[in-house]
Amino acid sequence: MVKTAEITLGSTVGVNSDGIIAFLDTDVNSSEEVCKNHSDYANASCTTLAPLQFLFPGLIDTHLHVPQWPNLAIGFLQRCLQSEKVYDEMVQEELEIDSMTVAYNSSIQVEATNVLADTCLKHGQRAVIGKLCILTGSTHGNWETSAEKSLQDTRTCIEHMRKIDPEEKLIMPCVQPRGALTRRQNWWEGWAIYRRRAHVCETEEDIVGALESNPGFENYTDMYKSYGMLHERSILAHSIHLTDHDIRMLKETNAVDHSHSIDCSAGYSTFMLDSTRQASNVSRHLAMHTGNDDYRLTFPELIYLATLGSASVLVLEEKIGNFEPGKCFDALVVDTVLEDCFNIAGWEHDDLALLKKWIFMGDDRSIRKVFVNGKLVTGKENLASTCIYVPEHACT
Ligand SMILES: [Zn+2]
Repeated sequence: MVKTAEITLGSTVGVNSDGIIAFLDTDVNSSEEVCKNHSDYANASCTTLAPLQFLFPGLIDTHLHVPQWPNLAIGFLQRCLQSEKVYDEMVQEELEIDSMTVAYNSSIQVEATNVLADTCLKHGQRAVIGKLCILTGSTHGNWETSAEKSLQDTRTCIEHMRKIDPEEKLIMPCVQPRGALTRRQNWWEGWAIYRRRAHVCETEEDIVGALESNPGFENYTDMYKSYGMLHERSILAHSIHLTDHDIRMLKETNAVDHSHSIDCSAGYSTFMLDSTRQASNVSRHLAMHTGNDDYRLTFPELIYLATLGSASVLVLEEKIGNFEPGKCFDALVVDTVLEDCFNIAGWEHDDLALLKKWIFMGDDRSIRKVFVNGKLVTGKENLASTCIYVPEHACT
């Protein structure tokens, strides 16, 4: 249970040339003072945040169907469009809006999946990418011709991602089987190290279909466990109709349900902040409906879901999610006076109130800079920095 959201005033974040947070000094008077204390940083470039600006950890989207990006708001049964142009625009827009890390469901196409990986690397977005492996049950005939071809194509995509980013600085391949393909005995051979992504208990029809095509199982998670899908590196989407048995099984196997995401195009928003608000609303409705207030997500829990919680779903909690030294500097510089997207009058000296206002009312108009791996990847001014001082009237 997350109980608090930590707001640190009068702090400096030092970022080394590899984009790693070297230190987070609190209760200091200026970035220059801190640079003097850390000899390696004597000549570091420094940025001091202005009043009403603050740093926020990079937001993390755990589930986005890439080819459905053009179908946002018009429904997932539309034909999928795929082109370099779509991916290029999508990745840039995602970064500008708020998503520094995204777990992408690609399509069955090798070339399109590889283009997506190239595009994320080009624009500096951190991404977990899986080529979809599916033999039946998709729409518009979007399934593969044989299991052998599906496995071979997955291998080709993994090799491509390994080649363009061997150290997984930004691009992390995953294996993404769907439906009957999971039954193959040799599915995981040589791929144990990769994250495994799948949908589970998405709709009642999905559950019936999965059990009908996999005779001998009484529930979804037993079937997944038997096929090796449940694992500490599993990322399971939706999980809407989990039974108590399913929940126990996920706990036992350390397989994790996804945190939250825009779920393009079943979802209709491009903002992770919007997903955060929707999570809040749904939790409140559940609390009202059941009379059990434990369902209500608190403000610190909402922040956790969008940052460290989602990082842990993607097995990246050692790398991103907050500003702990040793982690990658993935951050937003939020400027609450940049555009008039929410009212701050009267709350200028209440840091928690400002943060709440941004989470519940803010949007990309208030994002001044976006950093991934310490590198400025987009923003409203072209300034890089390695030492960021947060004075008294700003907060992290
Ligand atoms: Zn999905």
